[in-house]
Amino acid sequence: MNMKIDPTNILKEHALKHTKQRVRVLEEIALDTVAISQPELEKKLGKEIDRVTLYRILNIYEDKGILHRIMDMNGTANYAICSSSCSADHHHDEHIHFNCTTCNKIYCLDVAVPHSTMPKGFTAKTVNTTAYGTCEKCNLEVKKN
Ligand SMILES: [Zn+2]
Ligand SMILES: [Zn+2]
Repeated sequence: MNMKIDPTNILKEHALKHTKQRVRVLEEIALDTVAISQPELEKKLGKEIDRVTLYRILNIYEDKGILHRIMDMNGTANYAICSSSCSADHHHDEHIHFNCTTCNKIYCLDVAVPHSTMPKGFTAKTVNTTAYGTCEKCNLEVKKN
């Protein structure tokens, strides 16, 4: 899903100041197609970026529609890069997330969230749908054993 991520370009597109730390966060998140958890990010970037700065960067990215946050079943925040059509006011990439209960990885699936109409007076900004179960990789491992 993260075919080509160019952190410098992303920062430019969103009129964000280019800092080494901001680039590092994007690079780290774009490495894998699965979402990365906040503790994992802290572990990987801890030497370069302190916690407070990391939180601040993640918040900015979420606000700008660069990243989206997915909570896993333990209540841990995970982050994934948004599709290019997302903006600060609207996240267009409302897809189903898959939380594997075996490896605990979170996948952004290319499956649309069912559209639901909100009651009068309610404005939904984003809709999160997470499916829980066994991912493709873990299912294959079960078969092997
Ligand atoms: Zn799995
Ligand atoms: Zn996602």
